[in-house]
Amino acid sequence: MAVGANVAVVGAGIVGLATAYSLQKAGAAVTVYEVGRPGGAQSAGDSRIFRHAHLDPRLTAFTTRSRRLYREWGDELGLELVSTGGAVALGPDVDQKLSGLAEVDGLDARRIDAAELAERLPLLAHYDGPALLDAGGGSINAAGAVERISARLGDAIVQDHVLTVRPTASGTVEVRTGTGRTEHDHVVVAAGRGTAAIAHGLGLSLPVHNSAQVRVTFRVAGEPPATLATLQDMSNAFGEPRVYAAASADRTRYGVGIAEEVPVNDDGSSVDPEVLDALADRAVAYVRRALPGLDPTPVAHIHCWVTSLPWGEDGVGVWQHDGVSLVAGNNLFKQAPALGEALATAATGGALPESLLASSRLGRG
Ligand SMILES: Cc1cc2nc3c(=O)[nH]c(=O)nc-3n(C[C@H](O)[C@H](O)[C@H](O)COP(=O)(O)OP(=O)(O)OC[C@H]3O[C@@H](n4cnc5c(N)ncnc54)[C@H](O)[C@@H]3O)c2cc1C
Repeated sequence: MAVGANVAVVGAGIVGLATAYSLQKAGAAVTVYEVGRPGGAQSAGDSRIFRHAHLDPRLTAFTTRSRRLYREWGDELGLELVSTGGAVALGPDVDQKLSGLAEVDGLDARRIDAAELAERLPLLAHYDGPALLDAGGGSINAAGAVERISARLGDAIVQDHVLTVRPTASGTVEVRTGTGRTEHDHVVVAAGRGTAAIAHGLGLSLPVHNSAQVRVTFRVAGEPPATLATLQDMSNAFGEPRVYAAASADRTRYGVGIAEEVPVNDDGSSVDPEVLDALADRAVAYVRRALPGLDPTPVAHIHCWVTSLPWGEDGVGVWQHDGVSLVAGNNLFKQAPALGEALATAATGGALPESLLASSRLGRG
């Protein structure tokens, strides 16, 4: 029963915000501790891709719950959180993706030809290879979601650094911050790159792998198109085997990233910042070849740490320990509402779906 529960959330990235919003709606007293700015770390930037296709069918099913919640939350918050432009994927694996999508009831996903592709993604150069459209996917308004949920949470977000989280003898959980010490019925740790360190303090070793990424934002040349799908290009038709791109909410900008992991040292420092420069240059070169509807001069860069789990690039898992839930994974923006809802339920006495326990390796493959 959420009413009256007193829960702390560590981290105001999209996962912590979604958890806190679910808790607030359920009537719990929630405090969110954030060392920096809400949405300032891995959740930074204009947009993200919402897609249903995943190698693990359990994750495909889980995304459908997230999609429904993004719609409901958009209505509550007065903002469309996922565009209606759809999500396009190119490459030899589209039939495999489609057969996975066909296993989940109610998903509108199909192969599309070059003419429909040109309508859905008018920025793209001519392409007549395999392409699929996930009509329920689209560009997530990442900045809008962070801003609206943070505003709803208001003073519940406290700017402070969490040093330790630990269960007390009286059955509560202590949060020790830079400026104080509080006790809560439950603590959810959704601290992105900071989660493994807090887990370590609890005696848990999370298999989180850190790397870095860059996404480059370009302006759409001319008038923004009426509809603009996201792009997942695994075709290599334009000289890059793995590219992701999504549109800003007003369709005037498109963020493009080459999906390649940039290594970081064990202590989190960068191995070689020039690798990020080289990836950004490759994104520009890709835009010149593949996306003639964009002005190829970058207008913004997002540099981010990426946390991932060993069982898959969309892998996600929750660890539970004496009143503390800790969440880790990658590509969590699309999962955040359903993940937040599940974490909020678990924080207020309900059960976490078994598939979300780290031992279930959700998102494997
Ligand atoms: C370039 C790029 C492109 C991406 N594209 C997609 C995509 O298309 N689709 C998709 O679904 N996902 C995508 N992702 C992944 C997605 O953005 C992340 O998985 C998601 O934003 C993670 O959110 P989070 O809340 O878990 O972590 P974060 O956003 O990192 O939030 C954690 C927060 O915790 C705070 N914190 C950390 N330690 C402490 C502490 N000790 N005390 C207090 N606060 C602390 C941090 O300051 C931070 O604000 C992409 C990521 C990147 C980098």
